Amino acid sequence: MALAVASYWEPLDNHKVKCLLCPRECVIAENQSGFCLVRKNVGGRLVSTIYGEIASAGYDPVEKKPLYHFYPGQVIFSIGTNGCNLDCRSCQNWQISRQETHREVFPPRMAVDYASRYDSIGIAYTYNDPIVWFEYVKDTASMIKEEGLVNVMVTNGNVNLEPLRELLPLIDAFNVDLKGMTKEYYAKFSSMPNPNVWEVCERIKKAGKHLELTKLIVPLYDEFTPEYFEKFARWIAENLGKETPLHLSRFFPAYKLMNTFPTPVDVLNMAYNVCKEYLYYVYVGNVIEPEKESTFCPKCGALLVERIGYEVSVKFSDGVCPKCGRPVDFVT
Ligand SMILES: [Zn+2]
Repeated sequence: MALAVASYWEPLDNHKVKCLLCPRECVIAENQSGFCLVRKNVGGRLVSTIYGEIASAGYDPVEKKPLYHFYPGQVIFSIGTNGCNLDCRSCQNWQISRQETHREVFPPRMAVDYASRYDSIGIAYTYNDPIVWFEYVKDTASMIKEEGLVNVMVTNGNVNLEPLRELLPLIDAFNVDLKGMTKEYYAKFSSMPNPNVWEVCERIKKAGKHLELTKLIVPLYDEFTPEYFEKFARWIAENLGKETPLHLSRFFPAYKLMNTFPTPVDVLNMAYNVCKEYLYYVYVGNVIEPEKESTFCPKCGALLVERIGYEVSVKFSDGVCPKCGRPVDFVT
């Protein structure tokens, strides 16, 4: 099950191959794997070593992805496997994303079967980065669509444009982890010298897909100044739209940053206040702040969705604000 010929690569001399799936474009010698660990050169051909195998699965609230404006309060079957095209210093899931673990055989048909149990709305490809699982995600997502269910990708958003074009018709919603606004940030924090996440976000939006962004605020990597967060929020508002939800997440020591301190709560609140100047929907994560986790109408301020942790209460119906009638920015 596990070995499947990969999409997006080209043969080079001496049985080497060049992977063309993500902008890293690894050149891989025979019997070696790319940076992602799970795309391997076998006999001069690139194969995916994780096709139809999962390392993690569960039924999660869609808010946990996080997606706050997509089927609020619903459950989604979530699966992940091994591998990632980035190596972020603070990865929460490095045990599965940056090393190989035990995997269960889980062909697409089985995933589709699980996806409709327990009132799940479909499948979220998450935990590790689904980009490196391209072949399986594509096959499974096609079958999910045929069943009338939804597909969600939780991703770092660094993927070449041709594979992205293939995925876009199949994926209903994306949460993209926008780590920084510069190549230097990605090189330093994620060991990724040539990110293209900004263009990918624009393409997702242009394709009419639901997009939410997550920004983890990391001490020693992010600047704790209003100007710094203004740059984030301004770019999102100007290029993706003011209605794009932004999740600002509090950092806790993890992986290669075990000796770093958590994001100070006043920094998180400062970033929230700055971003709210530019964007309709800003949320904070990994901290208890009910007022900053709920959704309010940008026109009249009415409460639209109340969230306390994963307890979700939807206050609107018929797709409009109950007080002023403004169409709500939700997929339901
Ligand atoms: Zn309103």
